[in-house]
Amino acid sequence: MLEVNHIDTYYGELKALWDVSLTLDKGEIVALIGANGSGKSTLLEAIAGLLPPTTGEILFEGVRLDKEPSHRIVEFGVCLVPEDRGIFPGMNVSENLELGAFSKRGRKEKEETLHVVYGLFPILKNRRNQLTRTLSGGEQQMLAIGKGLLSRPKLLMLDEPSLGLAPLVTKNIFEAICQINQTGVSILLVEQNVHIALRVAKRAYIIENGRIVQHEQAKNLLRDRRVIQAYLGTHYA
Ligand code: ATP
Repeated sequence: MLEVNHIDTYYGELKALWDVSLTLDKGEIVALIGANGSGKSTLLEAIAGLLPPTTGEILFEGVRLDKEPSHRIVEFGVCLVPEDRGIFPGMNVSENLELGAFSKRGRKEKEETLHVVYGLFPILKNRRNQLTRTLSGGEQQMLAIGKGLLSRPKLLMLDEPSLGLAPLVTKNIFEAICQINQTGVSILLVEQNVHIALRVAKRAYIIENGRIVQHEQAKNLLRDRRVIQAYLGTHYA
């Protein structure tokens, strides 16, 4: 479904991704793991068209994405929920969700999708008239994911969905992510909680200093000595 082939990406003079390749099959959850500053967000931004690669190509369902502007990439069914959540604190919950349906894809099935999002996150329905800035961190993350779903993605890219959340809230968010995946939405996941990421993902890529250094079935990485030492902690072994 998604093919990233040998891309390089720059911030001005700074090269952030070096010859990065990655694939994702329809229906998969794939995790991208790496330390701070290793290039995880940059890769998601490259796929979303926010920071197009200078070399290489990105294909989605056989269509070249890397020459397309970001709003067209959303129309192809690719949506990024960014690390800063991309929601507007001064607007209420339902206004933020409405904004998620700005694409033609999203507009067509807005009411139906809204129903799905409120079913997945009932608290958002209860708080639909509440200002977003007054929501808890977990509710804001639910809103960010809900807003992403309103664009009717085939591929949902989530950047650090557990950031700043308590363990129980993280568990709820990940249950929702698995439910979303069960409805047929493929997921590319960047997550600092490597343990939970490797439990929900089928495969994972490890990125270091802008380069993919390992690519494996997630269940194998959970037993990999190097991964345990670098990302899970030795107590895990
Ligand atoms: P984190 O988990 O800390 O967000 P990350 O793996 O997502 O890390 P990126 O945010 O993709 O890492 O950053 C990759 C590299 O690009 C880093 O060296 C970072 O300093 C640099 N970088 C990121 N954003 C910018 C920017 N807007 N301008 C210049 N350099 C940037």
